Amino acid sequence: MSLKSSNGEGDKTMIGRKTLLVGAFCTAAGIGFGSYLSGHDGVDAPFVAEAEAAGGPVTGPNSVVPNRYVYYPGTEELAKDEVRVIACGTGMPDQRRGQASACFLFEFGNGEKLIFDIGAGSMRNIASLMIPYEYLTKIILSHLHTDHWGGLASIWAGGWTAGRPVPLEVWGPSGQTPEMGIAYAIEHFLKANNWDYQTRAFKISPIPGNITVHQFDYKGENEVIYQENGITVRSFPAIHAGDGPVSFSIEYAGLKLVFGGDTSPNKWFVKYAKDADFVIHEAFLGPGLFVAYANQPPQLSWRACCAFHTSGQAFGKIMSQIKPRHSVAYHFLNEEATRYSLYDNIRETYDGPLSMATDMMVWNITKDKITERMAVAPDNAWPVPGTTRQPPPEAGRPDVMSDFIKSGEWGPGFNAQNRMLDAHAKKFGIENQDWRPKRPWYKPEQ
Ligand SMILES: [Zn+2]
Ligand SMILES: [Zn+2]
Repeated sequence: MSLKSSNGEGDKTMIGRKTLLVGAFCTAAGIGFGSYLSGHDGVDAPFVAEAEAAGGPVTGPNSVVPNRYVYYPGTEELAKDEVRVIACGTGMPDQRRGQASACFLFEFGNGEKLIFDIGAGSMRNIASLMIPYEYLTKIILSHLHTDHWGGLASIWAGGWTAGRPVPLEVWGPSGQTPEMGIAYAIEHFLKANNWDYQTRAFKISPIPGNITVHQFDYKGENEVIYQENGITVRSFPAIHAGDGPVSFSIEYAGLKLVFGGDTSPNKWFVKYAKDADFVIHEAFLGPGLFVAYANQPPQLSWRACCAFHTSGQAFGKIMSQIKPRHSVAYHFLNEEATRYSLYDNIRETYDGPLSMATDMMVWNITKDKITERMAVAPDNAWPVPGTTRQPPPEAGRPDVMSDFIKSGEWGPGFNAQNRMLDAHAKKFGIENQDWRPKRPWYKPEQ
């Protein structure tokens, strides 16, 4: 068992949970190994009576397992000095159903929530956490590749539809020219999505469709870019594709956490992530896998992995240098065919605590321990209401639908709904807001 797991997925789990479970695994391995020796070779080994799997035994037929290895969203309060990080996207631009593009949600014990990057496809994972959208308003972007911000449209519109009462706030780096910076990107995001904005603004409420932008200098070295409610976020430059990309350190309750956006190995990361408690950094599959699986020519694959990004060996070297309490590798397609190869690459240069990230992996971080679990979340979660309510539609806002289009409404189809809508109006006491009588097709008896 132990030999197999040293090269297999089990080892990922073991190393990932090292701070939590290393004692349990050592104990269990000791029992298994000791029995084997006693039974076959006659060698005495110390006998330890109790394993610690699942935090101890279930004490009765109706008792619960004391400590599960899963996180059920919405069921766990954070301690004041605790941070929970949830991987809502860990993959590549060519995302899959099983793995969205980069996105990590940081939840702090004081109630703050910050989303670091929001890659394409990550919204479905965010939604499965069932967090009211009034708390998911702050998004901090490492750079403007779509696998790091392509999910913005989804949370912008989806959160708006699901009850977010306020605008989003987005932080991100400048570029070499104004056209390469976050302020330009958001201004034109809103222009590109103008039809969506205008139609929702008229029907729902315009305010949640606004976005407040905070642009900071991408050249800033360890500069504070966010400081609220006991959380300090600092930015430092990354080296990736062009000027602009950055990485972040996050300080809270005496903890230092680091979120690395895309980068090749760089001196700033090694310097400013040094001795952090928890460090997320990209790790790319080796060049041979991109040739074999991703249809890349070899002359591209060895630059994509290892000049524009960070290979497993380079990731390991960085972690050996900065020595975090726990490290997280992401930005690789995590599956049977690939994960062991990347894991071995990392282990050439690093033997410390490591998680091989995939979507919905969850870490809880305190001064005392760091745990890794997987979230068990519903595929079809409904939005969960918070306590605030959206402002009403803006009075006097012009309708964006013309009389010409309205003249095409087919009466029999609308009137077919009358009995259901009458009952709805009665149930909720909104008969005085009936929108039908002014329509030319309205026949209440139908
Ligand atoms: Zn990128
Ligand atoms: Zn990327």
